[in-house]
Parts: sequence; C-alpha cells; structure tokens
Amino acid sequence: MVETQLIPRNIKDNRVIEAMLTIPRHLFVPEEALWSQAYSDFPLPIGEKQTISQPYIVALMTETLELKKTEKVLEIGTGSGYQTAILSMLADKVYSIERIGLLAARARKVLDSISCSNVVIKIADGTLGWPEEAPFDAILTTAAAPDIPQCYIEQLKVGGRLVIPVGGEYSQVLMKVVKTRGGVIKQEMGGCRFVKLIGRYGWKADFNNNGG
Ligand code: SAM
Repeated sequence: MVETQLIPRNIKDNRVIEAMLTIPRHLFVPEEALWSQAYSDFPLPIGEKQTISQPYIVALMTETLELKKTEKVLEIGTGSGYQTAILSMLADKVYSIERIGLLAARARKVLDSISCSNVVIKIADGTLGWPEEAPFDAILTTAAAPDIPQCYIEQLKVGGRLVIPVGGEYSQVLMKVVKTRGGVIKQEMGGCRFVKLIGRYGWKADFNNNGG
C-alpha cells in the first residue's frame, strides 16, 4: 500500500508513512470477508452506508494537517476509526465525533484492541464541533460539507489548520484552511468524493440514504 499507492503519489512525510505502515488497517474493516482488500486503493464499506476512506486520501489529509506530536486535533466522522488511529500516532490527543452510535462503539473497540489510548470519541452532531474542548491545533472532517461550518474556524487556534471536503452531494474539493490573525487562508488540494456530513450545519438527514 505504501510503496504502490502513497509514495508514487507524492506522500512525503515520513511520520505519515510510518503510521500507515504501523496501524493494521484490516482490523478496521468489520467484514472479515473484505480483509484481503483492506490495503487496496479504494474505500470499503463499514456498514450503516458509510465507508473507510481510500488509503491515499487518509495519507493526503493527514499530511496536509502538518501535525506536531504535542498538538490537539479534532476529527469529525470517526467512521471505522482508522483515520483516528493514524492521527493518534502524530498528535498528543485526538477528539473524534461520530453521529452513528454503532460505528463509534465499533471504532472504540478496535482502537482499544491496539492500545490507542490518546483518543476520546463522542456520539454527537460533529457539525457543531466540540466547543468544550476547543481550541484545537487542527480539525479534520472526513465527510463532505456543503459549506465550511463557521464554528470550525472559531474552534481553531491561530495558526491552526482545517482540512475538509466541500462541495456538492457527489463531488467535492478537498480544502485546506489556515487560521491567521488577519483571517483565513484557503487552498484547494484537489477533487474528491466523500459521504455526506449530516447535521445542523451540514446536509439534512435523508431516510433513503444515510450517508451519500
Ligand atoms: N475516516 C473514516 C475512516 O477511515 O473510517 C471514514 C469516515 S466516513 C467517510 C464519514 C463518517 O462521517 C461516517 O462514519 C459518518 O457517519 C460520519 N458523519 C457524517 N456526518 C457526521 C456528523 N455531523 N457528525 C459526526 N460524524 C458524521
């Protein structure tokens, strides 16, 4: 996975590469029948109409955050917990929010099984952020928003970084946002396709399709 998918696509941060070599990705794929595909170049289903993201996207988003080991990071969309585990190796503490209780519980179990002890998960609407634990050095959103929720900017420290897919229901642009004293600096990182960020400042819940 690292040699054929990440390095050829220009993932350079050795700490990201080390984390992706270390965390056993297959454990985060709930269906054992899919374990043989767990290191392949595409997302996989994790139940509840949600997915574990493509390895390259996990690496790109993590590298873009430019985390230091002393930093505090907020993740929106725990999903399988795989991205959470990668973040936990690069940050001091990870706060992760998932709206679907079953996924949050399953992720907690897998993270505990690999002794990931610097992660706190809560079941809530992540479009509100986590004001009680703010400010954060970095925020990562692993579901697609129609617009950037303003509270994410408010909950970032000055110098803090936000990575978030923004756009329509079926395709988005991965955005990097840096908070400075004078405002925010936005950078487009390329096209992507994520499930929907559902909540007060995201998409409305849809009974036929939970996630997009
Ligand atoms: N990074 C995850 C992984 O590697 O498994 C993938 C996450 S999946 C693409 C997106 C997740 O965001 C889903 O589990 C979905 O339930 C969650 N989600 C969507 N809207 C949310 C919200 N408002 N708050 C918290 N989680 C949300």
